[in-house]
Amino acid sequence: MRALVTGGGGFIGSHLCDFLLAKGWTVVCMDNFITGSERNIAHLSSNPSFQLIRHDVSTFIDLESSVDCIFHFASPASPADFQRLPIQILKVGALGTHNTLGLAKAKKAKYLLASTSEVYGDPEVHPQPESYWGRVNPIGIRGVYDEAKRFAEAMTMAYHRIHAVETRIVRIFNTYGPRMRPDDGRIIPNLATQALTGQPMTVYGDGSQTRSFCHVSDLVEGIYRLMESNQNQPVNLGNPKEITVLELAQKIKDISGSKSKIVFHPLPADDPKRRCPDLTRARTLLHWEPRVPVEEGLRETLDYFRKVAQAGNVSSGLAGASR
Ligand code: UDP
Repeated sequence: MRALVTGGGGFIGSHLCDFLLAKGWTVVCMDNFITGSERNIAHLSSNPSFQLIRHDVSTFIDLESSVDCIFHFASPASPADFQRLPIQILKVGALGTHNTLGLAKAKKAKYLLASTSEVYGDPEVHPQPESYWGRVNPIGIRGVYDEAKRFAEAMTMAYHRIHAVETRIVRIFNTYGPRMRPDDGRIIPNLATQALTGQPMTVYGDGSQTRSFCHVSDLVEGIYRLMESNQNQPVNLGNPKEITVLELAQKIKDISGSKSKIVFHPLPADDPKRRCPDLTRARTLLHWEPRVPVEEGLRETLDYFRKVAQAGNVSSGLAGASR
């Protein structure tokens, strides 16, 4: 099997490349590295089953080789990016999705769209089932990502209905693990880096908002199962164990043994108050369940950030830490 992974140099994309290669697939990774990192795939450079193409998928994709499956993972995805790269996010969600769907149609390839729990916005239904249509502010600071992914889902379903492309849509909830950018502005990289370097740990708002954190190895297994299934409807993937942001900060502080203080910053606009996946569909259709306990995954992730910090790769300012 030959896969194209767009955003293959990113956090989730690079783990997906590893997973597919381990299954014996050939992988073409496409990335323009605006948020991805060549370090994430450096270990694959001499693998004959792996090919890297530097390309912005928001522009026409010219791929000579055949491809059986396309995994469209290219997009900046951190809330800090939403304010830094809003136009690129809208373009990759809209034009990048159109181009990759066109490629899937031309190559008669199966297609999987990386969508997001952000399509639910700041939800009024809890936990969120795939049947919930969401509550999104289209002109808010998060709207660029939410609406880009909502458009991408609509376009994916249109290609399925009109052109009979075999499509899949995964709605990814908060995911963490090694290879997250230490300065990407999301909560786990921020708090981990702050805890490890003795800086104040920034909790936004009063920390009562909730998230649920899925280890990237669990997520990638679910993505693979979804591609292998015959499910054209969206499927949530994430961890159902909901915790508050303040509890998470305390956990990271305890696990790292940090003496950092927890400090409170203003809550960014439109920050969802509660988020947790309803996994009924993933459980029944994919027989999938996340396995990695959050403490274990956090320990591994902290080790990763410790190594990155020792290698001197932590940028001096943490993106988003002063939002
Ligand atoms: N957050 C925080 N401190 C940080 C970064 C984020 O308290 O340094 C909060 C943020 O306001 C949100 C939650 O953590 O409520 C998760 O934020 P993240 O940026 O990781 O992703 P989101 O789930 O909002 O897409």
